[in-house]
Amino acid sequence: MKKLALFLTFTFSLFFYAQKKYVVVIHGGAGTILKKDMTPELEKAYEDKLKEALTKAYEKIKQGKSSVEAVEAAIVVMEDSPLFNAGKGAVFTSEGKNELDAAIMYGKDKSAGAVAGVTVVKNPIKAAIAVMQKSEHVMLISKGAELFAQMKGLEIVDPSYFWTKKRWDGLQKVKEKELKANQPNAFRANYPESYWVDRKFGTVGCVALDKEGNLAAGTSTGGMTNKKFGRVGDAPIIGAGTYADKNIGFSGTGWGEYYIRTTAARTVAAKYEYQNKDVKTATEEVMKEIENMGGDGGMIALDKNGNVAMTFNTAGMYRGTVNENGEIEVEIYK
Ligand code: ASP
Repeated sequence: MKKLALFLTFTFSLFFYAQKKYVVVIHGGAGTILKKDMTPELEKAYEDKLKEALTKAYEKIKQGKSSVEAVEAAIVVMEDSPLFNAGKGAVFTSEGKNELDAAIMYGKDKSAGAVAGVTVVKNPIKAAIAVMQKSEHVMLISKGAELFAQMKGLEIVDPSYFWTKKRWDGLQKVKEKELKANQPNAFRANYPESYWVDRKFGTVGCVALDKEGNLAAGTSTGGMTNKKFGRVGDAPIIGAGTYADKNIGFSGTGWGEYYIRTTAARTVAAKYEYQNKDVKTATEEVMKEIENMGGDGGMIALDKNGNVAMTFNTAGMYRGTVNENGEIEVEIYK
């Protein structure tokens, strides 16, 4: 009897463990996402898109493809959707342009690729992957990155492809607040708090773990509304908004400057590697540091054993997971 109980406990733990092994985690941005501001239709549209992205990534993993391909598949779905601040639907710069940033990192060999400030590449994540796989560089910016993407046969679009009314109106609103603050180039303290709220919304990211046990992480974004002077955020900076090694993959979303200053992605990985912290603790500690410095946002991490963390200090974060059995879960609010 005792033996049977032991056997059953063992089998159950195995089953339970299997249920909990995640292979893909995504985010679609963090911010003041409140149920009261959402219509049931919009909520469903977000959930459906997140599920579609997870499904596409899971198919790759199931077919035995690399985690890089899974990350690409998920991010392309979200870049092509106007719901997110990446690809079509990206936020506008102060000059009324869409300047896109993206990065990818492959944990197996720590290869990485990134593009920043691109305006005509339909899927910036593909350009980042091309930089990783087909160049000897890690980051290309602006016109050079666009030329490179074109040379590698990636789809080039007219900048107007990225235009959406929602983001355009968002820029006008932020500009009005800026005018009221009356100090266009002033330090943060001169702006009302409302100026900063929701200038960042809807960056997308994905971390995947393939059948060979290799992790990859990718992030794609339009950055922050009303960004100026060629500003580049954390998303394309390896170790800040994007990172993967043999242990862990990470993608961040939020106020990029704070992710750069805390080297958020690499710090999470270092806590995991050198301090034996699990992904949840490691991300929570870095999120706290960002918060203490005055920043906000969220982050996802997945480790080599399929443990997942989705941590944020905002009202919500579009997010979702799929485990190795293909079971999908998506969430929006706290
Ligand atoms: N982290 C992005 C940036 O600062 C913005 C975001 O995540 O929404 O460019």
